[in-house]
Amino acid sequence: MPSITADSFKTGYLPTWCPGCGDFGIWMALKNALVELGIGPDDALLVYGIGCHGNMSAWMRTYAVEGLHGRTLPVAQGAKIANHTVPVIAIAGDGDCLGEGGNHFIHAAKRNPDISVLIYDNQVYGLTTGQASPTAKDNLKTKSTPEGITDAPINPLTLALVSGATFVARGFAGDTPGLTKLIAGAVKHKGFSVIDILQPCVTYDHVHTYPWYRSRLYELDQIAYKPTNKLAAIEKALEWGDKIPVGIFYQELTSTSEDREPALTNGPLAGQPLGVVDVDTVLSEFR
Ligand code: SF4
Ligand code: MG
Repeated sequence: MPSITADSFKTGYLPTWCPGCGDFGIWMALKNALVELGIGPDDALLVYGIGCHGNMSAWMRTYAVEGLHGRTLPVAQGAKIANHTVPVIAIAGDGDCLGEGGNHFIHAAKRNPDISVLIYDNQVYGLTTGQASPTAKDNLKTKSTPEGITDAPINPLTLALVSGATFVARGFAGDTPGLTKLIAGAVKHKGFSVIDILQPCVTYDHVHTYPWYRSRLYELDQIAYKPTNKLAAIEKALEWGDKIPVGIFYQELTSTSEDREPALTNGPLAGQPLGVVDVDTVLSEFR
């Protein structure tokens, strides 16, 4: 069998992202993490939302679903229940995951399914030309907020923590090695893992640039910090300003929703994928 390399994920299409977009760094880190874990294109399911991030489904060869706006997590959880042996990774935008999909995010975190979510957090809706998203902050001026954003932003990390996520991290699209490590850790983690990825949108956000982030970011594993205390994690996650932490804020191992699902643990299907269902037979019950 040929070994898995970053080239294994090539399709015949090239990225359409703007030159310099942070999505390039995330794409590279994701491929590196999958290679490191020995996960090839046929071994994982990626579930995409709608946005610049979602376009990646055209140039990243894996099993994939590009669903409706904000609905990555219902699809990802359904797929995990159907075949819980396959790694499932949701690729979501900040608007996609925390605006349209905000309620799904909270309820997925609470259930702790064994799936990973990468939030491409650029503070704007890039695909629709740069309106403010729920994570927009620092008085950001956008097409929809010409005088600057006045709302308080959603903090993806604190929301994940209080909702029950069991692996909560922040990465930076401009640090491919660091992000590779975080993504590999999130995919390996058994439970709901969330990485909020700071992703410069070079076209529509001229505040949160690569230099802006680079002058502020520091790594949690370079200080005396242990990701085992939820209250300490919340406190760290609230830091935003001259210093911004990246790394793993919190991790705990506890039962997943698949572990607690009676049909998967007690019945004849215990430990087995649900298998292929004849859709016509199922639908015939409703005719
Ligand atoms: Fe990237 Fe922004 Fe361009 Fe979208 S609009 S591809 S997020 S730089
Ligand atoms: Mg966005």
